[in-house]
Amino acid sequence: MLVHPPDRPTALPAGGTNAIGHTLGLIGDEWNLLILRYAMMGVRRYGEWREALPISHAVLTRRLAYLTDMGVFEKAEYESRSRRLEYRLTKRGRDLWPILLSVWAWEAAWVPEHVESLPLMVHKRCGEQFLPVLTCAACAKPVQPRDIVGGFGPSGTWERSVPAATTRRRSTGAGAGLFPQTMTLIGNRWSAAILGASFQGLHRFRDFEQRLGAPPTIVAERLRVFCELGVFEQSPSAERADWLSYHLTEKGRAFFPVVITAIDWGQRWYRAADGPALLYTHPACGQDFHTQLRCDGCLVPLRGHEVAVERPA
Ligand SMILES: [Zn+2]
Ligand SMILES: [Zn+2]
Repeated sequence: MLVHPPDRPTALPAGGTNAIGHTLGLIGDEWNLLILRYAMMGVRRYGEWREALPISHAVLTRRLAYLTDMGVFEKAEYESRSRRLEYRLTKRGRDLWPILLSVWAWEAAWVPEHVESLPLMVHKRCGEQFLPVLTCAACAKPVQPRDIVGGFGPSGTWERSVPAATTRRRSTGAGAGLFPQTMTLIGNRWSAAILGASFQGLHRFRDFEQRLGAPPTIVAERLRVFCELGVFEQSPSAERADWLSYHLTEKGRAFFPVVITAIDWGQRWYRAADGPALLYTHPACGQDFHTQLRCDGCLVPLRGHEVAVERPA
């Protein structure tokens, strides 16, 4: 049984599920993301989530228990007479904000249903609406996926990066449909693996199938959906015309901040005894790569408590 302390990393035994698997188990669930999004806005009580979200009693109860077990929330009594509990974000939980902000920014920019309806984000420090810019924490330069090199480290294999979700039933994971495209990309083990593999440079159908050990019918179906969403585009392979290859589009590459902030969070909070799952460097500055989100207006590094949500008028 793993212990997930709220203020220091979980120690993962050698050979088991790695940081990526644990992180995907947590964020690859739309209800978790929505519960956390409201928590970041100050929601702490059961009734407040019930009011804010189209969520059933059973699903909310199960998710709050899961997120508490994961060290993301801690329970505290807010009224001792009736022993009523509230759920407070821990240090580990508050540290999730870069992932949520990156999901919001991508959905706002690329998912047409959301362009009008998502709340606006204001950077309190400069007072302006902003978009987050992914930069290197060491040198402060903006980075694109092509600017980073790296890949699997000692605990990094496809098998060990599969979500540790066997403790939960996925049948209740249908979600609210509020981040449908994000969930299509990361809400399922094979989707997340195919997306991760494409950022690692795999492009051909047979590579997804063989390297990931994925059933071919599933690979075919996921690639079709990714193409329909405009995240991948299909082209004949350079080597052989009948080997189709799949490349990230601009929309697909724009999802990179979600992927890399999630990897960074995972590796801050889960430490495998046999070493990191993924290792990246930023060749432009020669340092290990870690993420930092900056305000696109004032260019100052963002902090979670300096991001304010503003409802569209
Ligand atoms: Zn750098
Ligand atoms: Zn700013």
